[in-house]
Amino acid sequence: MQTQLFINGRFVPALSGETLASINPHDNTEIAQVSMAGRADIDRAVDAAKAAFPKWSNMAAADRGRLLLKLADAIEANADELARLESLDTGHPIRDTRNLDVPRTAATFRYFGGMADKIEGSVIPVEAGFLNYMTREPLGVVGQVVPWNFPLMFTSWKMAPALAAGNCVVMKPAELTPLSSLAIAELMAEVGFPPGVVNVVPGLGYVAGQYIAEHPEISKVAFTGSTAVGRKIVQASSGNLKKVQLELGGKGANVVFSDANLDAVVQGSAFGIFHNQGQACIAASRLIVHESVADELLERFTSLARSIKIGDPLDPSTEMGPLTSQMHRDRVLSYVDVAREQGGCVLSGGKAPHGAALAKGFYVEPTIVSAKPTDRVAQEEVFGPFVTVSTFGSDEEGLAIANGTEYGLGAGLWTRDLQRAHLFARQLRSGMVWINCYKRVSPGSPFGGVGASGYGREMGFEVMHEYTQPKSVWVNVDADIPPYYPR
Ligand code: NAD
Repeated sequence: MQTQLFINGRFVPALSGETLASINPHDNTEIAQVSMAGRADIDRAVDAAKAAFPKWSNMAAADRGRLLLKLADAIEANADELARLESLDTGHPIRDTRNLDVPRTAATFRYFGGMADKIEGSVIPVEAGFLNYMTREPLGVVGQVVPWNFPLMFTSWKMAPALAAGNCVVMKPAELTPLSSLAIAELMAEVGFPPGVVNVVPGLGYVAGQYIAEHPEISKVAFTGSTAVGRKIVQASSGNLKKVQLELGGKGANVVFSDANLDAVVQGSAFGIFHNQGQACIAASRLIVHESVADELLERFTSLARSIKIGDPLDPSTEMGPLTSQMHRDRVLSYVDVAREQGGCVLSGGKAPHGAALAKGFYVEPTIVSAKPTDRVAQEEVFGPFVTVSTFGSDEEGLAIANGTEYGLGAGLWTRDLQRAHLFARQLRSGMVWINCYKRVSPGSPFGGVGASGYGREMGFEVMHEYTQPKSVWVNVDADIPPYYPR
């Protein structure tokens, strides 16, 4: 297990010698002390990335791609160890880290490995006598700051496109979950990434993260995290006017019409909110149900929620693990009181599960509460296994509730009516819409939000716009055209 900063191709302690404990959320024990980067360490990482940039950006794109493909293979070869490390550090059940997080991480590096030599420019038809072409250039050193909810996967989402485009990276993982991105750094060194191309610097958000956002030599900062910190990132980035990409919070609407297939709704909605203990920006945290099917759906949904097997993340039969930190567990549980204060009813869960085996961990039962659409619990991001239920009558009412928060990241709808499905998909104020499914992601499909959910897109070709800048080149190809002001 690597626990030091990864700078210029080597694992090194922080200059201050300071460390931070990484905690196992299952039993509140320490997994490791991890070096904690300060501003001087960020400077070292930026210097290494700057020095690596000319060679990396001028390398044949196919060779950059080949390294990303080798990394994807190495991730698959080390899948069991990576899944175990991620489960230990985050509390995600091993069946999810092994079957979803690790394969998706490898798939993302592989997708962008293939993309590296397909980032094309264009020729623009301009007036006769001139050739105008546009190339896409990398930005230089990019800073990346990620949260703790999918640390392994987000390492690939952030690094892979940046590297494919020819940038060098300084990444800060979340202080709670630094281990899997350090493991990826180790694999990168093993498969031959040149020193300095990638640097991983665990540290505190308001120190290391803030300095990455401020740093005058960093050309872009890509941030995934809360809306509140996203605002700070924008302010901190103003010094050198760096490019900013923000993947922020969400309050996913999950709209169920009267003609929906309720079997599919129950399964899809449970995956939408309870997978990863609800710690997902795109979690289906608001169930918005047509009043004619609400009773039947709720009976089935609460019964499934009560049957979810909560337990040690390393047990392959566990379906839901602990939340990633004690502080976060307490915050999620505090929302149960908030719901009650505003007249909501707890329909299922609402507390930490009983049992000595889970007593030291940060567990919360799958929680379902009734709420008015304007209640705090239906407006604020809880980020846990906590779903509000509201009902609607007309389609217009359902749409108004779905669009009635400041967020606009992911939304789902369940209906057999094709016309209504497409109409709603168009009218939902949301970066992503799932019809008769929920929370599907793919390396090729644009991912991101609107409003308080941020701006910019990850994945697909869209993200290459985030990690490149266009250059327009004009060439006078007609000797008869005077190059000066004609008189
Ligand atoms: P957070 O905003 O507290 O922290 C995210 C990262 O920012 C961490 O690495 C943290 O150290 C760093 N940070 C904290 N303060 C900083 C500062 N002042 N300057 C720079 N960096 C700073 O978020 P979190 O609690 O770690 O993660 C949960 C949030 O992330 C939720 O709101 C969730 O919706 C959001 N999220 C969004 C997406 C998306 O793609 N839209 C995906 C996952 C999570």
